[in-house]
Amino acid sequence: MRIVLLGAPGSGKGTQSQRLVQRFGIPQISTGDLLRSAVKRGTPLGIAAKDAMQSGKLVDDSIVLGMIRERLSQSDTATGFILDGFPRNLAQANALDAMLGEVGQPLTAVVLMEVDNVELTRRIAGRRSCPNCGTVYNIYSMTLGSDLRCTNCAERPALVQRPDDNEETVIHRLRVYDEQTRPLVAYYRGKGLLRTIDAQADVDAVTTALVSALSQPAEGTARRKRVSGKAPPKRKAPPKRKVAAKRKVATKRKVPTKRKVATKRQSAAKRKVAAKRKTAPARKTVARRKVGARRKLATSRGKRSASRSRRPARKSTRRR
Ligand code: AMP
Repeated sequence: MRIVLLGAPGSGKGTQSQRLVQRFGIPQISTGDLLRSAVKRGTPLGIAAKDAMQSGKLVDDSIVLGMIRERLSQSDTATGFILDGFPRNLAQANALDAMLGEVGQPLTAVVLMEVDNVELTRRIAGRRSCPNCGTVYNIYSMTLGSDLRCTNCAERPALVQRPDDNEETVIHRLRVYDEQTRPLVAYYRGKGLLRTIDAQADVDAVTTALVSALSQPAEGTARRKRVSGKAPPKRKAPPKRKVAAKRKVATKRKVPTKRKVATKRQSAAKRKVAAKRKTAPARKTVARRKVGARRKLATSRGKRSASRSRRPARKSTRRR
């Protein structure tokens, strides 16, 4: 299990990481805790990170990446790890991919823990932790007693509030999360690693949801699997150019409709009539010509009978 817990400050990444440590026996790697420890010890790295942390800004990538590389090289990470608060921007996510790629140990899951801003602010304001064991408490959601002491450690040290858990810094940290860390949601979804849980509920319910999410396929991949299991995959739409070409061919091949055939026949018949009309004289002309011809005949007959009466009668050769 190589897991990243993604979520705004106050979403419960630290608390849930501690529960996963107990459940799966893999270490939690919190860049916030590593940085706080460096600040406390006054190391050069801590001195360099202190100002950015107190104002709610992100600490320089080179510092954080150096720390992570060193931590991941330790033997307890061989069976897996839970990254809490890292990566916090795309540059860190890319660097982490490269680092894990070098050793052939890529991430196996990224869980986004979603909580609304009102609840985030309430949780951060009420957050207290043990300076000895690091256990995180919340004065609003736990019954701690009035003295606010760690119930885990035998010496029961008094709980402390983180210096950057004040209202002013919280607003800035939430803005930094929206601008720089939230783009990782799409980044990991694109890589087929993302699971999202509602982390607004009480701690136990969130742990149940988290453990269940880790055994589920990542977002997007589940849907694809279901589709391929039941319905056949959707056919890809052909490129537009091909569609246009096919349409052209179809138009050329189109069989003429009955009406079109009839219209064609009619126009052919009309053309025939028109051609006949061109060559054949009009009816009136024909009639007139006929009358003229009859008159001519009559005239010629008249002439002939007149000439016959003028001519001497031929002797009849006919025998009677
Ligand atoms: P956290 O305990 O995760 O809320 O971190 C506390 C502070 O440590 C943040 O507000 C940052 O200033 C710094 N920090 C923790 N993790 C990172 C990181 N991955 N990149 C840059 N700064 C970080």
